[in-house]
Amino acid sequence: MKKRTWMTILSDHYQEARRQHQDEHLLILFDIDDTIIDVRPIFQLMLTSFDQQHNTQYFTNLSIEDISLQEEVLENLLDSLQIPAEKHAAIGDWVHQYDWTQSEALTAHKPFNGVLEMIRWFQIQPNTSVGLVTGRFERTRTATLHILNLLGESFRVNFSSDMFFLRPDNWEGDVPSSKIAGLQHFQEQGYRVIAFIDNEPENLEAISRADPDREILLLHAETMFASRRDRLPQRAVSGNEYLLSELIPENQLLPERVHMVWNGVNTRRNFEEFLKSDVFWGKIDLRSDFSSEGLILRADSFLSRESERNEEWLWFETVLSEFSLQEKGLNIHLTEGNPLLERITPLLLQTNLGGKNLWFSGDLVNSKKDTFESISHLFPSALLQCDIDSLVPMIYHMPEQAERILREMFTWGINLFSFTWKPAYPGKILNRMNEWGYPVNIQGIPDLEAFLQAVYLMPYSVTADFNFPEWNFFGVGAGVDGSFYSYPQYAGIPRAR
Ligand SMILES: [Mg+2]
Repeated sequence: MKKRTWMTILSDHYQEARRQHQDEHLLILFDIDDTIIDVRPIFQLMLTSFDQQHNTQYFTNLSIEDISLQEEVLENLLDSLQIPAEKHAAIGDWVHQYDWTQSEALTAHKPFNGVLEMIRWFQIQPNTSVGLVTGRFERTRTATLHILNLLGESFRVNFSSDMFFLRPDNWEGDVPSSKIAGLQHFQEQGYRVIAFIDNEPENLEAISRADPDREILLLHAETMFASRRDRLPQRAVSGNEYLLSELIPENQLLPERVHMVWNGVNTRRNFEEFLKSDVFWGKIDLRSDFSSEGLILRADSFLSRESERNEEWLWFETVLSEFSLQEKGLNIHLTEGNPLLERITPLLLQTNLGGKNLWFSGDLVNSKKDTFESISHLFPSALLQCDIDSLVPMIYHMPEQAERILREMFTWGINLFSFTWKPAYPGKILNRMNEWGYPVNIQGIPDLEAFLQAVYLMPYSVTADFNFPEWNFFGVGAGVDGSFYSYPQYAGIPRAR
């Protein structure tokens, strides 16, 4: 049995709301500070700037971890640092009046792991939106939206101003009552609010009072909270990890427009796991075996890893006919450029593997311009992928030059560009590549969580080991057999979807 967490409870609640209110627009409301944004780095900045301005050294050794406190946040912290009581008021005022919209403070804004991925997922679900309800004042609207969208870009998340409720500048009540106002604001616009996520128990208590029919799932982000925990409504669910692998139900169809590639179908075992799955593309690493002059599948070159005694190989010709028989798509990683291409071309031309189910992958080290041009000429409708991690810094910082290089590579016949998970900001790269009109593959995915994160960035394709026992995928990866998985051999049950 799957363990119940706040994410799986949210998952069930969302699916149920979807069933019950098919024609309505569903809304999930998020608090910002300590729910989406980890405020500790900002807090740390405020305190160290106090030192700078007052020529003191109270916070010189203050680390982020020291700020993981609860209840009467500042007071406790100051006590624990043994700061004289008479200084507390001055420090409190400093923090209270600190202008966090200045650029220095904006760069200290960091999201919690997984939360923007989760927001992204909700934002692309049909008839579903994400709204923000914050205790920050209305006058900070522009600065707050700016920083959230700056952070969001890396995750392909965007917040529009109309999905954002701030505490009115002239608000006379407390924060919890402004949260109720935020809830009602969205309800009046016709949204069906199904969940409210906040780190403050007293805010959730207020929302529970405003929701007598208990339709709103109250989610308590256990990050830092100032209000007393006993104010947490009984029906609230707490958690501190935002995980797509718990939020997305296993039986949910992954988006059809993202093409899936099973990596490293080089061993009999991985090949069988791949064939049982509904993954269309299988990627093989092709090498020449100099002793027998045959073509074999092997992740590592013989230079980087010597042949072991009794090493069993799959032969290219065998695999080729199986792919063709099973009507699967074959993705060939060309590890040795032209000489290899010349040897496989006649074999490929004999099969019924046409453009629709043929894909070539190369890189700029092992394949040259003329390798790509030859493939494009011989198999004009095949996918032709090139790994371009080396261009990542240029895509960020010298986009015009990067685009010129990509355009040139496109004329060689390359029609798909591949990046390893996770360059600093995959969402940003995808946005750029989309603007330029180039499809993207993402590869090197370590686990199910990263796989889901990559898939919902909506690249053209995702290449993964399918080493996800949680979802009954038992791929063993491209590496030396056994090094990337820990479950017993052939644990796999056929996966039908
Ligand atoms: Mg908060």
